[in-house]
Amino acid sequence: MDLASIRSIRDQLDRLRVQVGESLYLAELAANSIAPPMTPETNPYSVNYLPVHPWGLASRQRLAELEPDLRYIANKLADIWDMTIIWGYRNEAQQTHAYNRGNGLPWPDSNHNVMPSRAVDIARHPLDWDDIAGFDEMIGAAYAIAKEAGIDNMRSGKYFSNRADYAHLELV
Ligand SMILES: [Zn+2]
Repeated sequence: MDLASIRSIRDQLDRLRVQVGESLYLAELAANSIAPPMTPETNPYSVNYLPVHPWGLASRQRLAELEPDLRYIANKLADIWDMTIIWGYRNEAQQTHAYNRGNGLPWPDSNHNVMPSRAVDIARHPLDWDDIAGFDEMIGAAYAIAKEAGIDNMRSGKYFSNRADYAHLELV
C-alpha cells in the first residue's frame, strides 16, 4: 500500500469517527436530555388534557369554561382522584336560582359569573357533601398544586366567613 492510499484511508476513518460522534451525541440527547414535546393531551392547562382519572362528559364541558389556571388545578386533581366538576360558569338564571337557595352571591357578583369562569365547584367522585375529610384532602392538594405552579391567587371557599363552601375554588 502506498503512502497516498494510507492517507486516504486515514481521512475516511477521521470522517467516520466524526459521524459516529455526532450520532452518539444526538442519540444521547434524544434519550436523556430533551423533554417530550408538550401536546394538548399532556398539557394540564388544556381542555384536552388526559388526566389519570378521565373526566366525564359534563365535567369536561365545565372544564372548558374555566380560567386556564383553574383548569390546570382541576386537571392535576384528576391525576390524583376521580373528580367531578359541579359548576364552572353560571348564567344569570343559574346564579339567581343558586342565590335563592342560599348558595353564593346575587348575579353578577360571583366569580362563577364571568366567562371564562374564575370559580369552579369541584369534588371527588362519587360526590358526598358530608365527607369533610375528603374535601379537606382535596383542598390541601389544590393549594399544593397551585403553589407548585406559581398560582398564588387561588383560594378555597372553605374559608368563607359566612358559610364554608368546600367544593368552591376561585381566583381572586
Ligand atoms: Zn362555587
